[in-house]
Amino acid sequence: MFRSFPAMAFRTRCPVLDPAAFCFRPSTDLRNPETVISEPQAKVTLFEAAELLRNDEVVAIPTETVYGLAANAFSPAAITKIYATKNRPQDNPLIVHVSSLAMLEEILPDHRIPPIYLPVINRFWPGPLTIILPKSDRIPAIACNQPTVAVRFPSHPIARALITQCGFPLAAPSANSSGKPSPTIASHVISDLDTKIPLVLDGGQCYFGIESTVLDALRSPPAILRPGGVTFEALKEVLGMEELQVYKKHFVDVQLEMTPTTPGMKYRHYSPEAQVVLFEKPIPLGNGLVPTIDNTNCKGFELSTMVAMTILETDIESLRSSIAHEVEQLLSAGNRKFGILRTSSSSLQDITKNRGSTFKSSTEFTVVEKFLGSALHPEQVAHELFKCLREMDAQGMDVILVEGISEDREGLAVMNRLRKAASRIVTM
Ligand code: AMP
Ligand code: MG
Repeated sequence: MFRSFPAMAFRTRCPVLDPAAFCFRPSTDLRNPETVISEPQAKVTLFEAAELLRNDEVVAIPTETVYGLAANAFSPAAITKIYATKNRPQDNPLIVHVSSLAMLEEILPDHRIPPIYLPVINRFWPGPLTIILPKSDRIPAIACNQPTVAVRFPSHPIARALITQCGFPLAAPSANSSGKPSPTIASHVISDLDTKIPLVLDGGQCYFGIESTVLDALRSPPAILRPGGVTFEALKEVLGMEELQVYKKHFVDVQLEMTPTTPGMKYRHYSPEAQVVLFEKPIPLGNGLVPTIDNTNCKGFELSTMVAMTILETDIESLRSSIAHEVEQLLSAGNRKFGILRTSSSSLQDITKNRGSTFKSSTEFTVVEKFLGSALHPEQVAHELFKCLREMDAQGMDVILVEGISEDREGLAVMNRLRKAASRIVTM
């Protein structure tokens, strides 16, 4: 399935680039914006990256979603390197990234953007929204062997400036080994791809932390094939998107399942080395729960009724006992190092304080906890999720226990990734 390459070991360089060194003028012009680079060193590094891409190399770049592994979208040789470097299944298509509407039109069969997309482009580009478009012959079959191609206009200044500098669109999946959590900081790219690629541009931590939303408005009604940085709620507000559906939530499509146009349908995805156990039931919000400024734990909620208090306590209690039950079983299977990714105040640390009353087993084990973000702020959870999964691996956890959140807003994308990463889902 994979074309093999002669082992080509690079000394992977990872220069730091400040996104603030790049801006685009006029700022509202998407048709043909001009890049302004304020730092000479940033210019040198950007030119070097563009030169590598012109020579059919792959380069890892920051985007507002996750780090991408970029290559010339017009070059079959360059694209072959993306698949080989990531070990990506050949039938999983790539997203093509453009930096202007003029560049987009160049790759469309009749140079015309389907009118259904104009309001969404207007509202969400540049940004974390990918749209499905008719494919022209300029995009090689190896990038996408389908009648359609997925295209995005990223907002990250480094990605935008680099595409403009190249003068051709960049195909770019996430810059991880296939199946692993996507990298959201440069060192995570290095840990997967060191010596396999010549250059990683280090632009700091990605703003969203989860991949783009993939929207197919060529079908009727329009559908989100993959939830991501642009939320269902926000998209549905836009003209022409009133009937918007979400794949797997509102409909399934056998044809789509067979040809994996939507990531993660066919392949294991986003998975760290440790096994992931997901606890699905979120803490109920609304109905009497008013978040205050410090909502990182339950003390931060104002409870306007005793009913809400009862629900909340019951929920945390049931989460704790589910976690304790799971840990018992995992201990008997030989696991000793447990990572917990929290989104509420529930804590296994609490449980371990009264081990005697909670655990039958007297086996010693360790627990490392990280706070993913507040369940009330799914964008925080999205920002931290992949980073925390990788940090748990770096600390050698056997198992990662994760609390789910509600599917509101960015929560839809968070839960989509978590369900794909999970080896076991506990519904409470
Ligand atoms: P990633 O794997 O993170 O690069 O995400 C890119 C995803 O976009 C792919 O896995 C595809 O499933 C999706 N995609 C790319 N091209 C198409 C297409 N023509 N139709 C539907 N989805 C696509
Ligand atoms: Mg990916």
